[in-house]
Amino acid sequence: MKDNYNRDITYMRVSVTELCNLRCRYCMPEEGIAKKSHEDMMTAEETLMAVKAAAALGIRKIRITGGEPLVKRGIVKLCAAIAEIPGIEELCMTTNGTLLPRFAKDLKAAGVSRLNISLDTLDPEKYRHITRLGELEDAMAGLRAAEKAGFENLKINNVLMGGFNDDEIGAFTDLTKDQPIEVRFIELMPIGGGIGFDKAEFVSCDTVLERVPELKSLNREDGVARLYAFPGAAGRVGLIRPVSCDFCQGCNKIRLTADGKLKPCLHSDQEISLKGLSQPQMEEVLQRAIMDKPRKREELNAESPSRAGRDMNQIGG
Ligand code: SAM
Ligand code: SF4
Repeated sequence: MKDNYNRDITYMRVSVTELCNLRCRYCMPEEGIAKKSHEDMMTAEETLMAVKAAAALGIRKIRITGGEPLVKRGIVKLCAAIAEIPGIEELCMTTNGTLLPRFAKDLKAAGVSRLNISLDTLDPEKYRHITRLGELEDAMAGLRAAEKAGFENLKINNVLMGGFNDDEIGAFTDLTKDQPIEVRFIELMPIGGGIGFDKAEFVSCDTVLERVPELKSLNREDGVARLYAFPGAAGRVGLIRPVSCDFCQGCNKIRLTADGKLKPCLHSDQEISLKGLSQPQMEEVLQRAIMDKPRKREELNAESPSRAGRDMNQIGG
């Protein structure tokens, strides 16, 4: 359905857990988070009702996220049930990939159509540093498992951090030369663990084009990513600029948190609870939330952090 600013809202990101097996510095606190009581979180039935209500209002694409969605018990079954909801045309997942060797095949069979895998560095030491708990080899094994399971057009999410991984831009873009993958550089956002990062670490996606001038614009977008590619390459490069540009005018998303809060805008603290509601009530609340979606986010930079009021693991990106 259309919101008050004539934007067609067709995409809902659904966070299924706040928990994660990693502790990325820009996302979560080192000590992890206190596990909330079971009663405060959406049950699988409630999540399904929320997706059905959203589908009735014109949501066509669902992205499962977290925390790490693959640590959620029953995730495959939940995906299979969402994939069957009439009106849902695309079911995607964003994951750190480390558990894909165990789940990739089942996710494919459950009807998950696309995977985005987060990978900020190709250096094992730096991977350990940024994720605090992770091993690069696990994420790489996840990528291979996804390919083997038949996931096509995999996307790699790379959060660009000045002084940390900008020296690997070339190595990541090179991956797209022979493989049909999309490497997406995402500007670090001052949200969650990203608040308090040094100003120099917030680099714009322009850096990618400066370092790799051979990339040519494809003059089109894939969601929020502006697309580029090397001439004749199998894959492509996406630039996502949540800080240096705002894409509010074309925003087609709403978000549902694992504790049932509907967030019409990532960077606003506006939240409406779906927890405990019936499906028709959820539909009513969703409709209102879509109508009330803010026109634009507030200013966003190192000095003016997000007003989201939650860490990223509690929203899902
Ligand atoms: N655990 C999964 C993963 O890492 O892909 C899904 C959840 S994670 C919150 C979703 C996406 O948000 C990841 O690609 C992650 O890199 C990104 N993210 C988290 N905090 C961020 C920040 N401060 N700025 C930019 N992207 C961020
Ligand atoms: Fe976990 Fe994803 Fe956040 Fe990293 S970005 S801590 S993998 S939820």
